[in-house]
Amino acid sequence: MAKQKGAQDLEAVVMDTLRLVFLLPIALAALLQRLWGARKVLGNALACPTCNTQIPLTGMWQCKKCNFVFYGFYFAKCKVCRGVRPFINCPACGASTRNPLIVWWWRKERG
Ligand SMILES: [Zn+2]
Ligand SMILES: [Zn+2]
Repeated sequence: MAKQKGAQDLEAVVMDTLRLVFLLPIALAALLQRLWGARKVLGNALACPTCNTQIPLTGMWQCKKCNFVFYGFYFAKCKVCRGVRPFINCPACGASTRNPLIVWWWRKERG
């Protein structure tokens, strides 16, 4: 019995290490994104995964939450309500692309 328990402990340590190795680059990327700013990470356009059109991210946008209209970066935080858009619609095919700057697995885990 004692031997089996030892093996389980080892397995837990290995799993923890693997998780750390896997999550560390993601955490670092999120940190760098915060340091650099969303615009430098994404550039001025985002490729649509459905039709491959370059969706322009700079322009005149209206906040969906508070209707504040501004010129600038699509995924930037709204200056009034601090809201961030979760997705953008492709102007060519109409398919939505999720905001790549939101860490979706993190959101899901936190509910
Ligand atoms: Zn498209
Ligand atoms: Zn707003």
